[in-house]
Amino acid sequence: MPHRPIYLDHHATTPVDERVLDTMLPFFREQFGNPSSTVHAYGWEAEAAVKQARETLAATIHAEPEEILFTSGATEANNLAIKGVAEAYLAKGRHLLTVATEHSAVLDPCEYLEKLGFEVTRLPVQPDGLVDVVQLEKAIRPDTILVSVMAANNEIGVIQPLEAIGDICHQKGTLFHTDAAQAIAKLPLDVQAMNIDLLSMTAHKVYGPKGIGALYVRRRNPRVQLAAQLHGGGQERGLRSGTLYVPQIVGFAKAVELGLAKMAADTKRLEQLRDRLWHILQSAGGMHLNGHPTQRLANNLNISIEGVDGQALLLSIQSVVAVSSGSACSSTKIAPSHVLKALGHSDALAYASLRFGLGRFTTAEEIEQVGETVKGAIAALRSA
Ligand SMILES: *Cc1c(COP(=O)(O)O)cnc(C)c1O
Repeated sequence: MPHRPIYLDHHATTPVDERVLDTMLPFFREQFGNPSSTVHAYGWEAEAAVKQARETLAATIHAEPEEILFTSGATEANNLAIKGVAEAYLAKGRHLLTVATEHSAVLDPCEYLEKLGFEVTRLPVQPDGLVDVVQLEKAIRPDTILVSVMAANNEIGVIQPLEAIGDICHQKGTLFHTDAAQAIAKLPLDVQAMNIDLLSMTAHKVYGPKGIGALYVRRRNPRVQLAAQLHGGGQERGLRSGTLYVPQIVGFAKAVELGLAKMAADTKRLEQLRDRLWHILQSAGGMHLNGHPTQRLANNLNISIEGVDGQALLLSIQSVVAVSSGSACSSTKIAPSHVLKALGHSDALAYASLRFGLGRFTTAEEIEQVGETVKGAIAALRSA
């Protein structure tokens, strides 16, 4: 294989863990049945595998298995949560509350609903990326049907105070949805303690396969109503039709199980590596850490660099390290990241930013190499 750069873009996606792949393979080969086939062994095997995966995922967030709906990923889970609630709660109101730094898979469904006549409030964040919960509480109205605040940000890694937000939503009697794509199996999540009513997850950010995710939908206290967005064979209690993608579902559960087992150790190791990288880079001077210094994902380092052109910097380091500047999801649009802009940055500082996303297989040697390379490239660009 040709030389490939060190992969530090784990917020965009992660490699599939070998152990995950191994659990998936039999479900492409002999156990290929359709879990909806109830009259033969092929169907029963597939159904049993899906049942077990559903139990694993539910247990991870302290939910019940029937509260987990499989989707194609977090994008679909967010769309189902937001549009599904909007359609089901028309009689209660037409107001939704979200945050300026959300992923486009939350912001865009909200914008779509706005065009249909719903009203959307997008709360600003504080300079450290955290939502002001007092401001959030004030923004909830009697006609607010949904509050959607992500668990951890995909660009700056900031972890929002889910428990406090859930508490407020519960008291105000409004539903609380969280996009936990970056948080699942990385942070402790408890839908009971945190009063979460809907939660989106995805496998490919935690060493699972792409194309599979899930939406948790609360069935008790309160029972969340949801309007299906995909109609057909009636799978997933009629809320998400389509033949279940068994190998991906099995792999998803295995990935989450591994992530949970390694959570404490991975977090500690990644924090140390991330802090080491930040230490090396800081010595170049003129560096800003984007996002809260401690309320952040262990594997995230997002920085803005004074006195360099972001695009030129990315070009000069790309043979050594694969990172992104701004959000990977919007990297086709040439616009400063909406997340960095929401922190109050100028366009220039938003452009001159790098997002490092460390992963399970990142080594200390790689961090040293990346740190020195980026530092050297910054010095070269500044003196040019
Ligand atoms: C990756 C990501 C998504 C999209 O998830 P897919 O499974 O790729 O659709 C949504 N929200 C956040 C925060 C993400 O990081």
